[in-house]
Amino acid sequence: MLISLILPVYNESENIAHLWERLKETIAGMNEYRFEAVFVDDGSYDSTVEEIQKLQPTDALSWKLVRFSRNFGHQAAISAGMRHAEGEAHILLDADLQDPPEMIPVFLEKFREGYDVVYGIRQNRKEPWWLRFCFKTFYRLINAIADRPIPLDVGDFGLISKRVAGLISEMPENDRLIRGMRSWVGFKQLGIPYDRPARYAGTPSYNLRRLIELGLDGIFGFSKAPIRVALFTGMLVCAIGGIYLLQVLISFAMGGRTVQGWTSLITLGFMLGGANLIAIAIVGEYVCRIYFQTKNRPLYVVERIEESPSSKKAIDPAA
Ligand code: UDP
Ligand code: MG
Repeated sequence: MLISLILPVYNESENIAHLWERLKETIAGMNEYRFEAVFVDDGSYDSTVEEIQKLQPTDALSWKLVRFSRNFGHQAAISAGMRHAEGEAHILLDADLQDPPEMIPVFLEKFREGYDVVYGIRQNRKEPWWLRFCFKTFYRLINAIADRPIPLDVGDFGLISKRVAGLISEMPENDRLIRGMRSWVGFKQLGIPYDRPARYAGTPSYNLRRLIELGLDGIFGFSKAPIRVALFTGMLVCAIGGIYLLQVLISFAMGGRTVQGWTSLITLGFMLGGANLIAIAIVGEYVCRIYFQTKNRPLYVVERIEESPSSKKAIDPAA
């Protein structure tokens, strides 16, 4: 049975050779399977591509390299890998060895037992405390409001069957959060805990800005809760304004002083202005997503596809 390993790579030159060794060690003895590593080069500007081209395939492990025309992002790279993979199951893992290849046999055993989706649950993360805090908050927030829950502390690391990969590939959405789409698809799913080590080499390319972007995709791509929050905040602010007006009118009718409450007026002005801005921003989030989706641009552009030397061919998609 052929199994595809989906490996998005962006400036991972220092990790490729070591990753290849670890993959070979892991699959040694798993004779019932053949593996194809589908590398997706997400516009690396170091020697990642050359490092991949140097890799020696074995009978059990070959490689394919899908090269993007520029950097399109991690989620686009995974999507491309899934589209070009031919295995009965796809195993998604990062190339920096933060997703231990030793989990591959564990995932495959569960796949054999009939699970369509088997994913890793991160425990003992080695990232700095503030990043861990951000992740924790992010996953809990999404789960609290998402229409379909996304499992906690789960990344893209895991196995999906060919049919789940096909269903995800067919989803036309541009703002992709694979772990959310995978959860949405359904079928029999199982999470398995694993220790997430630090990167083998290199620096993570997910900086705070990209994490926030991914977080917002998670929230706005999977939930209508923000619109509800805006609605209820607006109603609350209106009610407070109404009660305040009533109080002023009553005090006027009873002959009280009316040029009063400068502070409360200003506060009210700020509150209303703030509430308006928040509401507009929330609508804007959705509108801009609709806007980009209606452009119908492809998720990525493939410049070239190469295969390990045994099959001796390079395909130029433009040809
Ligand atoms: N990656 C990618 N495109 C990007 C950023 C990252 O293909 O624009 C790849 C990267 O090479 C790695 C995986 O996605 O294999 C995860 O990236 P990283 O280790 O930076 O993220 P983290 O582990 O911090 O989530
Ligand atoms: Mg990483």
